[in-house]
This record gives sequence, C-alpha cells and structure tokens, in this order.
Amino acid sequence: MESDSYVIGIDVGGTNIRIGAVGSDHSISISEIIKKEKVLTSSDTVYQLAEFAQEFIRGKCAGMKISAIVIGVPAAVNRQKTTVLNAPNLRGFNGVNVVEIFRQYFECPVYVEKDVNLLLRKDIQFLNLNLKQEQVIVGCYIGTGIGNAVVINGSFLTGKNGVACELAHVPVMEKNDPCPCGNFGCLDNYVSGRRLKRLQETYFPDTHISDVFVCHRQEPLIIKYVERLAVAISTEVNLFDPDCLILGGGVIHMHDFPRRDLEMRIRSHSRKPYPAENLKIYYSSNTSIGGLIGARLYVDTLMSRAVATPDGIIAAAYDQ
Ligand SMILES: [Zn+2]
Repeated sequence: MESDSYVIGIDVGGTNIRIGAVGSDHSISISEIIKKEKVLTSSDTVYQLAEFAQEFIRGKCAGMKISAIVIGVPAAVNRQKTTVLNAPNLRGFNGVNVVEIFRQYFECPVYVEKDVNLLLRKDIQFLNLNLKQEQVIVGCYIGTGIGNAVVINGSFLTGKNGVACELAHVPVMEKNDPCPCGNFGCLDNYVSGRRLKRLQETYFPDTHISDVFVCHRQEPLIIKYVERLAVAISTEVNLFDPDCLILGGGVIHMHDFPRRDLEMRIRSHSRKPYPAENLKIYYSSNTSIGGLIGARLYVDTLMSRAVATPDGIIAAAYDQ
C-alpha cells in the first residue's frame, strides 16, 4: 500500500457513527462524528451508511488516495468479513452483505469487522505489546453490551463461522430473560452497560448515569454488578490463561469505576495458582477514535500478508 494513501474507518457505535481518514502514520487527518439515528433512519440502513461515507469522502477527502474502507460494527460478522450475521442493535444490518452494497459506491477494497477486534488491534499497538511474547491476549470491552476479542499467536480467533468470542451471549445458568440477540438468559443482560443503565433508572433515578460509581459504588447493588462483571471476565481468564488481559469500554472508563476492586475480584475467581497469581491486566486508552485507528491497522496487517497475483495484489487472508 502506498505510504501516502488513506484508509477510511467507519465506526458504527450504539449512539454515534464516527468516520475518518487515517494515514500511514496512524494519525487521523479528518474525521466526523454524527448521531447514529441521523444517518440510519430507515430499514435501508446499509445503503444509507454507504451514502453517508460517499458524501464524507467527496466533501472532505478531495485529492486523497483512498486505499480501503473498513466498517466496524457491534455485531457478529462472517469469517469472510463481508456480511453481518447478527446485530442486536443494528436491525437493518442483520444478514446483509455490507461489502457488496458498499462496492456499488466505491472501487477500493471494503471490509466489515467486529468493532472490538479493531479496538484490540489499536490497544495492542498503543500498549506496545510484542505478539511473539504475548501469545494469548484477551480483550473485554464493557460498553452498551459486552465486547470480546481474543488474539492467539498473532491471529484473531474467529471460529468456524467468524462468531467466536461472543462472551456477551454465553447463557447464564437458570436465567431466562430475553436478550436482543433472540436467545434467553445471555450474560449481556446482567453485566453490560445496558444493565447498569437499568439499575440507575430503577434505583438511582436522581443520579446521572455518568455519576453512578461516584455516588453509589459502596451500595450493595453496584458491588453486585462489579462482582458479576468479575465472574464474566474471569470465565474468559480461566478458559484462555492469557498472557495479558485488556479491559476497556465506556463502563470501565466511567468516573470512579472501581478498577482495583474489579481486578481483585477477577483474581479471586481465577484459578490458583495460575492464571490468578501472574495475570497481567492492562487498560484500553480512553479514546473515541480507537476504532478508526484499528481500521488502519487492520488494512496494514492484511497488506503485510498480501500476495502478488497476475491480477495484482490481494490480501492473503481475511481473518488475520
Ligand atoms: Zn444474547
């Protein structure tokens, strides 16, 4: 990829959509943030997103060479990185081949990827982790829902269909509350940001959601919430025995979130002596542009593994 080319990253979040042009030095040359409902207003949401991207590129990226577009979504994505399989919070994307639609608007390569995979790429880069030494890396991102990504020996764990690492939808024993994914009793119902918001609305209506930990961190309901979070995360720790665990997401970055208490509880539930005794825990940097930088890193990785063919250069593998 030419060093003066840009990757367009599109981060479709629960509330906002961020779009930006990311250069080879991973700096954002130009970006925009907009409320999701201003772009995605009908059931044709993928077409609307493509038109929004086209407008951004035409209006703000004139003269820039665009080498690829990467769309990060809070959803399960197929292994080929073309189709959104199940998006509880993006109904118009369910089962849609996003790449096929975007290719009607753009000539450059287009990829769709689970948003937390892009975030974990950014974190690995920002934390300067050496993938030869840190062979198993687990990322847990607690936002509106629970996002989970795992890197093993330098590659993202995708599973047979691309839907590995759905920690949010692990069933909880003897629970049967409906989950937006269509199943019942999923973990996401009990430890996500969505759950925290419901607790605030029901029990602390006079406290703004951003102050829940500032005002109520000592209350049994909030202690129980943190304890449940620790149980969920230590499940991952016990499954993968990771070289390091990275925690991030909006809930983790809230004012006065009890990080030390969460860490203690994760170690308490982790198996003894290991991984409990030497578990390394890092925190994701609190940046709103992590998904955009991750988009650039994703394309850089694909191209570094690219192979030459008679038709040009193609990415060696889509699931790296
Ligand atoms: Zn679910």
